[in-house]
Amino acid sequence: MIALDHSDIKTNNKKRIISLLIKERELTKLDISRKLDISVPTATTIVGELSEEGLVEEAGMASSTGGRKPVIIRFLPNSRYTIGVDLGKDYIRAVLTNLDSKIIEDRRRELKTIDKDEVLKVTKELIEEVINLDINKNSKLLGIGLSLPGIVNQEELKLEVATNFRLKNISFKELQTYFNLPIYLENEANAGALAESKLGIAKNLNNLIYVSITEGIGGGIFINNDMYRGRDRRAGEIGHMCIAKGGRQCNCGRKGCFETYASNRALINSYIEKTNVKVKTIDEVINRYKLGEEDAVKVVEEYIDNLSEGIESLVFIFNPDYIVIGGEISKYSEVLSQKLSDKIFSNNEFYREGDVSILFSSLGDDSNILGASLIPVFNSFGLDIR
Ligand SMILES: [Zn+2]
Repeated sequence: MIALDHSDIKTNNKKRIISLLIKERELTKLDISRKLDISVPTATTIVGELSEEGLVEEAGMASSTGGRKPVIIRFLPNSRYTIGVDLGKDYIRAVLTNLDSKIIEDRRRELKTIDKDEVLKVTKELIEEVINLDINKNSKLLGIGLSLPGIVNQEELKLEVATNFRLKNISFKELQTYFNLPIYLENEANAGALAESKLGIAKNLNNLIYVSITEGIGGGIFINNDMYRGRDRRAGEIGHMCIAKGGRQCNCGRKGCFETYASNRALINSYIEKTNVKVKTIDEVINRYKLGEEDAVKVVEEYIDNLSEGIESLVFIFNPDYIVIGGEISKYSEVLSQKLSDKIFSNNEFYREGDVSILFSSLGDDSNILGASLIPVFNSFGLDIR
């Protein structure tokens, strides 16, 4: 064990209290003491410091089982702000959020072309829009987090490769210089997993695999409350695990990748192939399914079958508490949930339904961008992303 001196312990406890507040939002000093196993006087001292720094406030009284009613501690929500950016299939979205991860400003622009110059230009303009609305906020800005659909290199501030977007080697360094704010890059599935584990449906779980279904498929892996990134942050590319040898051609150059069967694009393309009707969104396909259109029913059932194939492998490899499915499709949990569980757990020698819960994101379309905007918060307070 490494010996910590008194001030290290105090700094560490301060970080733990901030982490706890991010998850729980409202706590009494007694809650803090119990959950972190520190004394009430210690909790009181640190809360006093955070209050002096203008980070937390006392808000109302908690109900009491007798005696004096305890005071609730929470973030002073607008004491700090952070920016999240999400690069999607044909759009960029930027949000300004406060310490409660509440979206204060929200801008989105469709992209006409997806190339390096356009991505940088639109990102810059949208960030300016979300912060320039109120100049007073600028001094309280913690940084900018970007959720990107590919492999990122934080040291070089680069999106190294995004196969579905045919993008390579985009450097975001000029934005860091321009805004004079720290910039953090994260893979979209990791960003989504972070949001789910801190703000969403998986808040109190240790082991979680987040399956981000968008144009492609990405995975965010939390093991024992810690994000697993792999040797050089390339872990979780579950969209490219092979579920059909010699199967459909993937943008990565390989064949039979999971995302060619279970992404939004896969669902849309399968429907077009079957019907020749040029639908553009998964909403159109699912609505037709809900109306009982025969072709749509076939396509969606085959889609669920394909999705279950990949998820079953994830269950076997990780034995997680939860699998959380995120992205646009998550709003159709009522259509998918039961059928997906049936496929995964029927004829399964190893697992029964309930052994692993298959959940749908509660943050929906916001999970990636909220995760991105959380990263500057974690970094500026020196917290581990776990
Ligand atoms: Zn692939």
